Amino acid sequence: MTGYREAVVDLGAVSANVAHLKSVIGTPHLMAVVKANAYGHGAVPVARAALAAGADWLGVADIDEALQLRSAGIDAPLLAWLHDPDADFAAALARNVSLGLSSVRQLHQVAEAAGTLGVVADVHIKLETGLNRNGVHEPDWAEAFALAAELEQAGRLIVTGVFSHLANASPEDDAEAIVRFERGLAVARAAGLTPSLIHLASTAAALRVPAARYTMVRVGIGIYGLSPFTDQSSHDLGLRPAMTFRGRIAAVRLVAAGAGVSYDYLWRAPTDGYLALVPLGYADGVPRQASGTALVSLAGRLHPLVGRIAMDQFVVSVGREDVAVGDEVVLFGDPATGVPSATDWADAAGTINYEIVTRIGNRVPRSYRDAPGDAVGTARGGER
Ligand SMILES: *Cc1c(COP(=O)(O)O)cnc(C)c1O
Repeated sequence: MTGYREAVVDLGAVSANVAHLKSVIGTPHLMAVVKANAYGHGAVPVARAALAAGADWLGVADIDEALQLRSAGIDAPLLAWLHDPDADFAAALARNVSLGLSSVRQLHQVAEAAGTLGVVADVHIKLETGLNRNGVHEPDWAEAFALAAELEQAGRLIVTGVFSHLANASPEDDAEAIVRFERGLAVARAAGLTPSLIHLASTAAALRVPAARYTMVRVGIGIYGLSPFTDQSSHDLGLRPAMTFRGRIAAVRLVAAGAGVSYDYLWRAPTDGYLALVPLGYADGVPRQASGTALVSLAGRLHPLVGRIAMDQFVVSVGREDVAVGDEVVLFGDPATGVPSATDWADAAGTINYEIVTRIGNRVPRSYRDAPGDAVGTARGGER
């Protein structure tokens, strides 16, 4: 049954997407990126589904996200790569979280925490290769790798990985970043390091830039069944969108031609007709920028969202359609079933599908299905 507000996540789709990506990419290792609560899908259930389907690493942005997975009993290899200046590296090491490090300072911090705990830290060194976000900057490579080798000798850490991230700006830019990355790998090896996990590609490059695959890829958006490209859909890539965002009609009213709808009366009814109220708003992640442009599916037909999207609700014009309070409304899901896609919403709002799914709010309960029609569990939004 459809809930008042609900994001249904098909874990069977996540598993199928991971298995498909693994087979087309073909690297020895595949990291499932489950940061930001698995792009809104729920980190713990998605992590379990991805691991069961053949992912052998999990990736998150920060240590808090990593520790939440550990607390849920997930003990797979797990990398966190974005750290507060005062990050609690000891807490990460105590739970066997691998650390992506971007500076000499972080190498010192992690070595000290490892020494205190009496453990050997598992470290992946991140190189700056063009994005200019984090990653060790080229002038500092020699110093960072020499220090890492020294700390490895001292038994404080082991550099199992070297990685970077691409800008996906153009094939030429990516090729240039790959050349820079290769230079960095050479500096690491010259320092005496022998990292076995070499990773550069996220979903887009994993699919389109074979030279960027190395020994592991870090795939996020693809495991959720969404395309990172504007010129290829999920279906074109052999992927199935995992999330369906839906709710139930809270009210239906007949209005006369000329009646205004929602704040600012952005829209007025051109003719007499029915309006359906949907109890989802920007607090739930429905992008306000899609006011007046998005479509929703109601009883298998597409209808326009009209007027301003408010914090808690929006209105759909259904004309003379026979709809009732309690009927299911689907905002997005798998377009193969005739409903709009997260990408359609992204286009309507002037953003990308990543943002549409990731911003689904905490007020929206996530429920999980293994396969269509097969409910396996429910969690309040925010629980992981
Ligand atoms: C988010 C992220 C990814 C995953 O990117 P997708 O485009 O979702 O596949 C990979 N690597 C890093 C460093 C990231 O921050």
